[in-house]
Amino acid sequence: MITATEVPAAEGGTPVRASFLVFGKPLVGAEEIAEVEDTLRSGWLGRGPKTERFERDFAAYIGARHAIALNSGTAGLHLALNALGIGPGDEVLTTPLTFAATANSVTHVGATPIFVDVDRRTGNIDPAALERSITPYSRAIIVVHLYGRACNMRAIHDIASAHKLPVIEDAAHAVEMRYDGLAPGRLGDIAVFSFYVTKNMTTGEGGMLVTDDDEIEEKVRVRSLHGLSRDAWKRYSSDGFKTYETMYPGFKYNMTDIQASLGMHQLRRIEANLTVRDAHWRTYAQAFTGVTALRTPCEDDSSRHARHLFTIELNLERLRISRDGFVDALKAENIGAGVHFTPLHTHTYYREYFAGREWDLPNAEYIGERTVSLPLSAALTKDDVLDVVAAVKKICSYYRR
Ligand SMILES: *Cc1c(COP(=O)(O)O)cnc(C)c1O
Repeated sequence: MITATEVPAAEGGTPVRASFLVFGKPLVGAEEIAEVEDTLRSGWLGRGPKTERFERDFAAYIGARHAIALNSGTAGLHLALNALGIGPGDEVLTTPLTFAATANSVTHVGATPIFVDVDRRTGNIDPAALERSITPYSRAIIVVHLYGRACNMRAIHDIASAHKLPVIEDAAHAVEMRYDGLAPGRLGDIAVFSFYVTKNMTTGEGGMLVTDDDEIEEKVRVRSLHGLSRDAWKRYSSDGFKTYETMYPGFKYNMTDIQASLGMHQLRRIEANLTVRDAHWRTYAQAFTGVTALRTPCEDDSSRHARHLFTIELNLERLRISRDGFVDALKAENIGAGVHFTPLHTHTYYREYFAGREWDLPNAEYIGERTVSLPLSAALTKDDVLDVVAAVKKICSYYRR
């Protein structure tokens, strides 16, 4: 028997929450605010000592030789491909179940993204499908540690070395992920992180490229700042004016000290915030046990999940609404939700770019039609999480088929 309070807000019932719960709300502390103020008062707003310190701190946290701070994760992906010398005529193998930037970066260097299907259980790139997709034109692999879960790096490493292909890790979801105790950047040749507002740590906009390779580091560092000779940013510092040369027609991709002021403190709290999100994750996983209209993420991993996104997979055969209808119904309950992701080969640009090409990506399509991301920020309280649980259960039971 459905009572008045169990009618979804989308059908005229009362919303679970009185105020809207923002999806991917960042947690910014007093330390960040004080640090930004200090930077603004210092008169040095561009790349400077705080960015250098943030790079050192981040490299130490990852356990990598080099970390280069950038103004976005997308810039990092572009620079990674550029530094590897990938260009027109080359193919880069990647997953379609990712954010547009992953494949766009391949397009930025004039190469062609080749979409490889994913494992239906994890959403991560399927090594067997990866191996089948290699051609004489393959030049690199970009893996995405989807939602914060490690890809099967042992299998990917074996395939990559057999075919002498460099591996770029799109680690936008995965700052805290560990695989055999190793962080992204230690598993492939290059890892790229994003500090966009909704990510596990934020600098407003920002990114970091990590590598152990000295040659790649040199190229990326120079090309991230117009292609000027190393340390050209110091040309206006107290070290005195230094002449510099253009070594390469580079990009304007550097991070600023204002952004680094946020990043330094976000990094300091990264493990504490992971603990909070892990608790929220467990609350969801327990609360949804036995709800037949959805499936919760698999939990059989030995690697450490970075807990970036908690996704539910809708059992559409058991529901009278579509996935998009489900997201709208959550919104009506005042819960912000997301879709990660609609597979890229179905987006307008890539559909037209690859016009006539038949893709074999059934698992990416399956997940793309059913996935819903629930709020999972360290800024959420336990009551916020319980509101989400109540809203999801209400929608599942009302629309049950
Ligand atoms: C956020 C994201 C990016 C892009 O990062 P930006 O910092 O926004 O440029 C790339 N790949 C994935 C998987 C992402 O989620």
